[in-house]
Amino acid sequence: MDFASKIRLIKDFPRPGINFRDITTLLQDGPAFGQVVNALADLCREMKPDIIACPEARGFVLGAPLAYVLGKGLVLMRKPGKLPGKTIACQYQLEYGTDALEVHEGAIRPGQRVLLVDDILATGGTMAAAAKLIQQCGGQVAGIAFLLELEGLKGIEKLGNHQVVTLIKCE
Ligand code: AMP
Repeated sequence: MDFASKIRLIKDFPRPGINFRDITTLLQDGPAFGQVVNALADLCREMKPDIIACPEARGFVLGAPLAYVLGKGLVLMRKPGKLPGKTIACQYQLEYGTDALEVHEGAIRPGQRVLLVDDILATGGTMAAAAKLIQQCGGQVAGIAFLLELEGLKGIEKLGNHQVVTLIKCE
């Protein structure tokens, strides 16, 4: 199936000059959504993850079914103030200012192999922070999976030596 054609391009969102890749059109298509999750699971099985972790919000949409298909648990990585328990945080740079991701203390056990999942690799800032946070928690990054990579932004360069798999690549 041509997954790329299922993702809608919206020009100048959320601001002029950004070509927004809208995955909602793919999610609305049951067979396409199912095949995407199965294809990602096939790419990730050999990483032998113990658990899946994903940043909010669109990471959850892929991370949850992927965890289900792989028969693993799911760890939610959230923006500050959203998780109710005690958290561990990792800050990262945005174009203007900083943001952070948090996980619950104890959600990742030392030595656990963690598969990170998100919808899109753009500049790589979010996923680089997510990988750092897993390591802060004592986990090992087993690999990183994306639905789509925007190759022109070279986000992959921020992900160091981690194994990265991507279903769709575009400029
Ligand atoms: P980044 O940290 O720049 O790699 O991107 C972080 C998140 O922003 C990704 O997980 C996407 O959900 C979202 N994002 C960035 N660029 C785009 C884009 N062009 N279209 C849709 N979502 C995007």
